[in-house]
Amino acid sequence: MVGDSVSAYVKELDDRYVLPTYRRQPLEIVGAEGTEVVGSDGRRYLDFVNGLSVSNFGHCHPAVVEAVREQVGRLIHCSNLYYTAPQAEVARRLSQMAGGGRVFFGNSGAEANEAAIKIARKHGRDKGKMVVVTLEGSFHGRTMATLSATGQPDKMIDFAPALQTFRHVAIDDEAALTDAFRKGDVAALLLEPVAGESGVQLISESFLRFGQSLCRDTGALFMVDEVQTGLGRCGAAFAYQRFGLEPDVITVAKSLAGGLPIGAVIARNEAEGVLGLGDHGSTFGGGPVVAAAALAVLNLIAADGLFETVETLGARLESWLHELTLAGAAGDVRRLGLMAAVDLNSKDAHAVVDAARAEGILLNATSSDTLRMLPALIVSEEEIDRVGRFLIRYVVEESEKS
Ligand code: PLP
Repeated sequence: MVGDSVSAYVKELDDRYVLPTYRRQPLEIVGAEGTEVVGSDGRRYLDFVNGLSVSNFGHCHPAVVEAVREQVGRLIHCSNLYYTAPQAEVARRLSQMAGGGRVFFGNSGAEANEAAIKIARKHGRDKGKMVVVTLEGSFHGRTMATLSATGQPDKMIDFAPALQTFRHVAIDDEAALTDAFRKGDVAALLLEPVAGESGVQLISESFLRFGQSLCRDTGALFMVDEVQTGLGRCGAAFAYQRFGLEPDVITVAKSLAGGLPIGAVIARNEAEGVLGLGDHGSTFGGGPVVAAAALAVLNLIAADGLFETVETLGARLESWLHELTLAGAAGDVRRLGLMAAVDLNSKDAHAVVDAARAEGILLNATSSDTLRMLPALIVSEEEIDRVGRFLIRYVVEESEKS
């Protein structure tokens, strides 16, 4: 179809040699710059997928490229047996952003959450508290512990049994959450401030606060997974700050190193003193090159006015999505900062993704009903309007014709 661009050779290699765990779009990407990626046919695509909230300051941001170039020629790797300045500096900056705490570095969101789960278990162990409570529909990663934490049983079917020490409760169900804490065996509550993979499900501030106070009252750790929501995406350094929360553990990954693999857990309050010598480790975690890239990204996050801009741009995107609802083509619209989703009434979201690609726009569907948008935080008003106009034309006007 129009918009397909994969060279036959790459497709053949991928089909033959890569394990088929991903539903790939028929697009081979050979380059990227700012808010656009370049297909193997030379065509440019406006990217509202953005590596699923990875390239938050645009692809190949010059400051990230420069920091990596400089570091890669100086020191690529030396093992966590030794001190390195970039890692120490990133830890300081993350700690400052979170209002205190210490940091452990891994290489992905799942690894950051694994570390958080280990902190919870060690913290609760002597008190007989081993259960980690998470939310139904949540997503925390694909390793066995983080898959067990993830509240999506269909992802676990072929890999059961899950780790036994996880309990899932429905979003915003305070009674169920209270019940989950009833046995006195809860080591931690782990939640995404906005559940991204399940279609940008917003969680009420009162539920988030209720969860935090249950943790405080029972000695459990309050842990937030900011892998997708964090680092500016939701109009704050961390999305939890928009709700005035004070978590003990925060996990970040995705956008922290501008596209290079990184994950970090920030442990605060009592959680800060839990892991000690030999309790955890990673060969590559927080290595000099990714840390140099992360420092460049952290400088960009610190720029004046970023969070206000994100909120203004997010509101503009949201108003386009409400147009779909007003026209009867969509139902619920959900957004925090520049993380947005819309539930479509009759159009299949995957078909919209295909049609958008044919028009040179990359969108993401979290299900056949829901479109998710994660544009770069440097997206322009014109680019938002271009996507909005496409949606009106394709989702509303085409539906009316058929
Ligand atoms: N947590 C959340 C909220 C995520 O959105 C993701 C990935 O989408 C993860 C954890 C897992 O991150 P990774 O794929 O880097 O392991």
